[in-house]
Amino acid sequence: MNLNVERVVTGPFRENSYIVWERESASCLLIDPGDDSELIIESIKRQNLHPIAIVNTHAHLDHIGGVSDLTHYYKIPFYLHPNEKPILDGYEKDCAFFGMTPKRTPTVDHWLTTGEFEIGSFLIRCLETPGHTPGGTCLGIKNHVFTGDTIFAGSVGRTDLPGGNWDTLCDSLVEAMKVIPSDYILHPGHGSDTTLNIEMSQNPFLIPLLNRVNS
Ligand SMILES: [Zn+2]
Ligand SMILES: [Zn+2]
Repeated sequence: MNLNVERVVTGPFRENSYIVWERESASCLLIDPGDDSELIIESIKRQNLHPIAIVNTHAHLDHIGGVSDLTHYYKIPFYLHPNEKPILDGYEKDCAFFGMTPKRTPTVDHWLTTGEFEIGSFLIRCLETPGHTPGGTCLGIKNHVFTGDTIFAGSVGRTDLPGGNWDTLCDSLVEAMKVIPSDYILHPGHGSDTTLNIEMSQNPFLIPLLNRVNS
């Protein structure tokens, strides 16, 4: 399970961008590269890595600010779930709403589907977890899962933004708890790493759903 994961915290929302690579190889994936593409590039250079793709858990403005710069800089493809298209299309409007200057809206090269797919030597498991956004996903690589804004340490994603739905999120959380091994390392879109073992014992949003996990 030799996977390195580096977190780079970006932008005013303190979003977690992740650089992921296998110890034997310099190829890396970028997950949810947020606003500060320079910080991310610095980190990549420091580790002598070679990015091969960008994969996003969802398309909220705090998670995609670096995508366009990085796809051009490294000439790499961008992967996103098709149900995120309305969120991506609303990027500039959402930036205006938060008083932020938008970067270029990224172009999607590959649309994600549920299940396993490969990028280079990475085997990625895509679990559809809509609710925070319509096409939100949790992305598993080896014993690591990038949960985006679906599950946080001590909390879960908000559902009051466009395309959010609380009941749908609850269904996704139940599915995630059924499917993701409880000792896997969860890397959320904000805040610190956790595991389902920890969250299922103390996250006030997950505890009320536990009866549905075991049924
Ligand atoms: Zn979000
Ligand atoms: Zn976020």
